[in-house]
Amino acid sequence: MSTLLEVRDLKKYFKTPSGTVHAVDGVNFSIEEGKTLGVVGESGCGKSTLGRTVIRLLQPTAGTIIYDGRDISSPSKEELKVLRREMQMIFQDPFSSLNPRMTVKDTILEPMEIHRLYDGDRTKQSEAVLNLMDTVGLARRLANSYPHELDGGRRQRIGIARALALDPRFIVCDEPVSALDVSIQAQILNLMQDLQEEKNLTYIFITHDLSVVKHISDIICVMYLGQIVEMCPSKTLFKQQYHPYSQALLSAIPYPKVGVKRKRILLRGEISSPIDPKPICRFATRCPHAKPICFKEEPTLVRVEDQHYAACHLQKESQPYELPFPEDTVEIENK
Ligand code: SF4
Repeated sequence: MSTLLEVRDLKKYFKTPSGTVHAVDGVNFSIEEGKTLGVVGESGCGKSTLGRTVIRLLQPTAGTIIYDGRDISSPSKEELKVLRREMQMIFQDPFSSLNPRMTVKDTILEPMEIHRLYDGDRTKQSEAVLNLMDTVGLARRLANSYPHELDGGRRQRIGIARALALDPRFIVCDEPVSALDVSIQAQILNLMQDLQEEKNLTYIFITHDLSVVKHISDIICVMYLGQIVEMCPSKTLFKQQYHPYSQALLSAIPYPKVGVKRKRILLRGEISSPIDPKPICRFATRCPHAKPICFKEEPTLVRVEDQHYAACHLQKESQPYELPFPEDTVEIENK
């Protein structure tokens, strides 16, 4: 299996009147073709900015992005056009990301027209749209419907079909199921997994919900204030965490069964500002284990075990959070 995407020391800063926001600050990872990298973290941690920078919707401030062996950090217009066909995005809110004045058919057709697929042959393009609707489980009779006439699950299926219209290899999925009911979430996740197997797609899957990311990811990155604080294979994170923030995220996974007692790790304290952050641990103001060194030195992401990386001064002393229920029940199941 080959590496499709490699990101080295990626930074994305935004200048504001109050200072420079370090939205993504020195991120490193790689993804093998056909695999999924889950990125999890709370709102404002920079995960969406990371996804948008990787597929070049945003220009990185610094760092290198290697896609399929090519450096795409500063592509020309022509290179960017080719990249747009190979790298696509599925957005969080299927309602606001769709044009309310365009029918299902026109929405899926639009990228084919822009990129002149099938040499611009309208009949072939229309046939491809209907085939894509079959692929994502949208009835053909809905081709002339508008987004407001459909439910959330169907709208997200349009978003997936649109992302697939150019036959991409790599898709950034930015919280694609957070706006959906749990039962619909499972259907969409299963659809995405089936498509991945069928088309050998590579995903970055962004979410704030660990139970969702476990369902679909091979590797999980936990992000906090623009940095990766822990990274390891998906299953490993549920057994062993070396960063207190990962432990807190794990303790927040809901378990819908009365009588199961659980120890929640409640994070108190102020969230540090992402504007010109000091070179200390960014989690120190909320960390229940913070020591004086945490307010003096910034921890770096280092390998703790095989394929397991963490950025914490006290990682060797870390006690993993134990789920009070079987780990394999942390799944969104298709009922
Ligand atoms: Fe907590 Fe210190 Fe580790 Fe930061 S470095 S997560 S403050 S223990």
